[in-house]
Amino acid sequence: MLVNLNDILLPARKNKYAIGAFNAINLELARGIISAAEEKGSPIIIGTAEVLLPFAPLEDLSYLLIPMAKKAKVPVVVHYDHGLTFEKCIEALKLGFSSVMYDCSKDSYEENVRKVKELTYIAHQFSATVEAELGHVGDNEDSAEGESYLSDPSVYFTVPEQAKDFVRQTHIDALAIAVGTAHGAYKHSPKLDFDRISAISNSVDIPLVLHGGSGLSDYDFKTAIQRGISKVNIFTDVNTATAIGAKNAIDDKKDSLTDFIPYEINEIKKAVVEKVELFGSIGKVPSYK
Ligand SMILES: [Zn+2]
Repeated sequence: MLVNLNDILLPARKNKYAIGAFNAINLELARGIISAAEEKGSPIIIGTAEVLLPFAPLEDLSYLLIPMAKKAKVPVVVHYDHGLTFEKCIEALKLGFSSVMYDCSKDSYEENVRKVKELTYIAHQFSATVEAELGHVGDNEDSAEGESYLSDPSVYFTVPEQAKDFVRQTHIDALAIAVGTAHGAYKHSPKLDFDRISAISNSVDIPLVLHGGSGLSDYDFKTAIQRGISKVNIFTDVNTATAIGAKNAIDDKKDSLTDFIPYEINEIKKAVVEKVELFGSIGKVPSYK
């Protein structure tokens, strides 16, 4: 069933588990992610991001993802991640995405508040939820998500008091925070500021989101979730899993797309199952039949 972030993140926040958000920019990814969630009885978040639109246009992808979410046996949010422009966020809402992230984290604090508040007001008319980012999650070099490489990410860490004010002013539903992660594949292990997660979680009453989750240790995930993270974004891991599937097919002397597809879905599923197990969201579907 198609749901929004509140439907699945509020229970997650209350009971200290997290829901995985995976970009699904083609049919194999969508099938792999949703079938993993169905098999494990876990709510799930799928979608795309503005920087991924060159690989799959928003409108085309919406015709694929939204009906699949509606048909799924588990709650599925179709989320537009890192919307960078107001226009594209509105387009996503009109196409039926049940959630958008409007990323104005590179703007000044005042601009971030103003832009996010306006979009949130509109999104709520669509019964869609909004995620925004305060502080700034940078990118590892060569990340698929972008190019804001930071040599010292702590400069942009989220400040708990400001987070409280931001949530109060914008009425957003979920907040992405900067606490030491970065998008893409890590060259050096990240150091998360767990006390900061706790402090932010205590100062706001909405679910917190961790971006740049691919490549963190199991300990990092578990601790971050215990401290108040309710949504974890993963893309690099499933992006790479798809390529591993294709490589396995080649190693098995397969040479056609139809041979590749089951290999790819298999690897995607494995990667997603591993994450939902780690995040503790298995069986967390109240009306799961
Ligand atoms: Zn992100």
